Amino acid sequence: MSETDMKLVVVGAAGRMGQTLIRIVHQTAGVRLHAAIERSNSPFLGRDAGELAGLGPIGVPVTDKPLEAFVEAEGVLDFTAPAASVEFAGLAAQARIVHIVGTTGCSADDEAKIRAAARHARVVKSGNMSLGVNLLGVLTEKAARALGPADWDIEVVEMHHKHKVDAPSGTALLIGEAAAKGRGIDLADHSVRVRDGHTGPRPQGTIGFATLRGGSVIGEHSVILAGEGELVTLSHSATDRSIFARGAVTAALWARSQKPGFYSMLDVLGLN
Ligand code: NAP
Repeated sequence: MSETDMKLVVVGAAGRMGQTLIRIVHQTAGVRLHAAIERSNSPFLGRDAGELAGLGPIGVPVTDKPLEAFVEAEGVLDFTAPAASVEFAGLAAQARIVHIVGTTGCSADDEAKIRAAARHARVVKSGNMSLGVNLLGVLTEKAARALGPADWDIEVVEMHHKHKVDAPSGTALLIGEAAAKGRGIDLADHSVRVRDGHTGPRPQGTIGFATLRGGSVIGEHSVILAGEGELVTLSHSATDRSIFARGAVTAALWARSQKPGFYSMLDVLGLN
C-alpha cells in the first residue's frame, strides 16, 4: 500500500459485482479499499469485506454509512440498483468525488438525477465497463452506418443469468444506442423491445431486441445485421465478472484527474 493509492468505496459490497470489485481492488496496484457499504437492514453489516469476497480478513467492515465513507474517500464503485445509485450520486456530489456507476435499468428520471450530480462529482456511467463490449459498440456503429436501413435489419440478442432483474440488459441498450447513432436515428423512437402475437411485418429501420434468461450466464450479446441472403453477426461473451470490475477501477483512476462531469467508458478507453 502507498500513500498515493486512490481510496475507493464499494457500495452493494455483498452483491455479485460488489464481491468481485472488492477482490479486484485488493489485487490492483494504485487503489485501496477504504470502505464497503450495504443497505441498513443487510445481514452482512459488520462482516469483514475481504471475508465476504473470499479473500480472508482485510480489516474493512461492511457499514451502512455511505456519506461518512465518501467524505474520506476519492471514489465510489457502484453496481447496485437504480434508486440506490441515484442516492449515492447525490452523496458523491456532496463529497465531490469520483462516482463509477455500473448499475443498469435506470429510468430517464434516474439518469437525469445522476447527470445533475455530475455538476459536482466526476461520474463515469456505462451499461458495460468491459473493453470488449465498448469496442463492440464502436464496431456496431460503423456497421450500422455502412449497412443502411433499406437493405439491412438490426437485431440485438442477449442472454443473462436467471437472477437479473432488468431487460433488455444495459449492454444490449448500449449496443442499440451505438447502432442508432450509426444510422443517425433516435433509439427511443425506433426500438422494438417485445414481440408477441400477430405483429405484422417488421417495420423498416427499427432496431429489435430479444432477451433470454437462465442459469448462471454472465453476459452474452450479439448484434445481427440481416440483409437479403446474408447475415453479419458481431458478438461478445463475458466469462468472468472481473472484466467489469477491472474496467470500473480503470475508470476510477482515469476520472481522478478529470473535471466534474458525466463521462462514458468510451471516454475512459479513448474510443470516443
Ligand atoms: P446483486 O448481486 O443483486 O448486487 C447488488 C447489491 O447492491 C446487493 O448486495 C444489494 O443489496 C445492494 N444494494 C441495493 N440497494 C442498496 C442500497 N440502497 N445501499 C447499499 N446496497 C444496496 O446484483 P449484481 O449482479 O452485482 O448487479 C448489480 C448491478 O450492476 C445490476 O444493475 C447489473 O445489471 C449491473 N451490472 C453492470 C455491469 C457493467 O459493466 N456496467 C456488469 C455487471 C452487472 P440487497 O441484496 O440487500 O438488495
